[in-house]
Amino acid sequence: MRDLAELDRAYLWHPFTPMRQWLQGRTTIIASGEGFELIDTEGNRYVDGSSSLWCNLHGHRVGKIDQAVRAQLDRIAHSTLLGLGSAPSIELAARLIGIAPAGLAKVFYSDSGAAAVEVALKMAFQYFQNIGQGRRRRFIAFREGYHGDTIGSVSVGGIDLFHKAFGPLLFEATFFDSPNRYYHPAADRAGQVVLDQIEQTLASGGQEYCAVIIEPLIQAAAGMLTHGAGFLGGLRELTRKHGLLLVADEVATGFCRTGTMFACQQEGVCPDLMALGKGLSGGYLPVSATLTSQEIFDSFCGEPEAAGYAGRTFFHGHTFSGNALGCAAAIASIDLIFESGLMEELPQKIAYIRGRLAELADHPHVGDIRQCGMMVGIDLVADRQKRRPFDANLRVGAAVCDHARRYGVIVRPLGDVVVLMPAPAMDLATLARLMDATVASVREYFTGDAAGRSSAAR
Ligand SMILES: *Cc1c(COP(=O)(O)O)cnc(C)c1O
Repeated sequence: MRDLAELDRAYLWHPFTPMRQWLQGRTTIIASGEGFELIDTEGNRYVDGSSSLWCNLHGHRVGKIDQAVRAQLDRIAHSTLLGLGSAPSIELAARLIGIAPAGLAKVFYSDSGAAAVEVALKMAFQYFQNIGQGRRRRFIAFREGYHGDTIGSVSVGGIDLFHKAFGPLLFEATFFDSPNRYYHPAADRAGQVVLDQIEQTLASGGQEYCAVIIEPLIQAAAGMLTHGAGFLGGLRELTRKHGLLLVADEVATGFCRTGTMFACQQEGVCPDLMALGKGLSGGYLPVSATLTSQEIFDSFCGEPEAAGYAGRTFFHGHTFSGNALGCAAAIASIDLIFESGLMEELPQKIAYIRGRLAELADHPHVGDIRQCGMMVGIDLVADRQKRRPFDANLRVGAAVCDHARRYGVIVRPLGDVVVLMPAPAMDLATLARLMDATVASVREYFTGDAAGRSSAAR
């Protein structure tokens, strides 16, 4: 039998992956997991430094979640939500509304973050038709925003590298600058400058806009671009004042990543629509949800005669919406957040990470260090004073992350930003291994201790 790496090269096409390089590289194949470690087919163990791409919350093979999924498997794996109820989907919805910002009242299930965002966009769009304001049909979004890879979510995405190729397929949206202080010329005033620009746009001709979509507090996929305090709250005020909806994409930030259950709660904001995914099932199974207000929901409940037999039905759904195994995992994961005291321990962990990151603060190739709770980006640059980036072809971020592999740590870069996104439940000893490896890898890569690195990167 051919080995797995060979079969991978023969048959797989990996997501977000330059496949030519992949085919030439060495493949690490994960065979199992235990706690906060991933174990490959050769028995090597690695700290899962990016929560298996931002979704794992409590670790791998967590007794209570495993048990909940097994128990559900003994009842039923899946039944449809089209025309039928399903016990775990109901229990989960009640829990979600219980922990969500007050004002969100209904849960619509999907199976990926991108789909949850699509649902939010379509609900916002149709809501204004329902209430007789059909000219509100344009979305406001942010440069460097990321909301998933389906055509609708790409239309409100602002990362050129990912989104440019699909330009002709997308609907038009209005984009404003990311308010991140490092990238915005107004630095510490970035948030206010961007809010002022949005206000101006809304004040002149604002009646064509239906919603603003934002990743609250931090634009993750762009390289952990944090937003200053008050920006989200300011946006909420503006959207209220001008009668459009606020869509919070909490697919990455939800479920304790930023230090609170949801990022919106740090600014006391209740969005009109909130997209959840990734950590919703503890990172176990593909479950996502769009939460919305009673008011939006009610607008879809018109009299059947009002507009043909279907009234104002929301014609959207996925075969696996509200999948029973996924919902069972999600219920167990949410219960575990409270039973394990995870939230109470977060401040200490966040402070620990902050302290360790300070060790890199003066490094000549570290341009900026950004942290929002358990989400971290270390921005590597060729010249710190001039903020000159590295030539992208050198793939410096990838090389630093490869180096960390030798310390038994898996981290993934976004361009030249080294991203750390440990599970919120990760214990301090494992966090220390992650931080040791990260600090050492950044230092050693640039001092030449990393064998095999590209000499051109100097
Ligand atoms: C990952 C992500 C998505 C997309 O979720 P998928 O499950 O990969 O479709 C959407 N929005 C944000 C903010 C994300 O980080």
